[in-house]
Amino acid sequence: MKRNFFPKDVRVDTTMMIDIDRLPKDGLHVARDFEFVSLDLVEENAVFLEPARADLTVRLSGDEVLVQGRVTARLSFVCARCLTPFEFPVDSRFDLVFLPEELDGLSEELTDEKIDQLFYSGRQLDLRAVVLEQLNLTFPAKPLCSSGCEGICAVCGEVIREAKCSCLVKEPESGVARLEFLLRDKS
Ligand SMILES: [Zn+2]
Ligand SMILES: [Zn+2]
Repeated sequence: MKRNFFPKDVRVDTTMMIDIDRLPKDGLHVARDFEFVSLDLVEENAVFLEPARADLTVRLSGDEVLVQGRVTARLSFVCARCLTPFEFPVDSRFDLVFLPEELDGLSEELTDEKIDQLFYSGRQLDLRAVVLEQLNLTFPAKPLCSSGCEGICAVCGEVIREAKCSCLVKEPESGVARLEFLLRDKS
């Protein structure tokens, strides 16, 4: 395997492991860019316009790992209704608590509360995975260029703007208007 093909700093990290037991007493501060590819994202049509920037503090409190911080990024999404790309800025603050995985499964009665519970294992935490998850959580289930996006006309195939497309300009009444309504409802 050729290991030195790329200079070291071009390499994209796939993990960023933090050793829990080596965390400084007053916490580890991390401020850096994280490179992710679209495949990492839950939104498959997303493209990064700028890398994700994370500003985090990782602290150990007893057996809990506290991760506080902020992630910002600029992405391009494709609108689920009109298929037009649009810019999606991310600015998310979070305050997370990770428990040692050894606690997982100890009490089955806690199942309901455990749904949102986060865990680390092997005295390590992958900060890159934490940032990626927080990023993914900000994405809407259905990305829209605007909440009022009217989508694409089923008749002429044009993006409808202010209830107008080329066929509606010619024939503003009845059937076509209803089609547009149906299309909007469906998406
Ligand atoms: Zn749209
Ligand atoms: Zn039309």
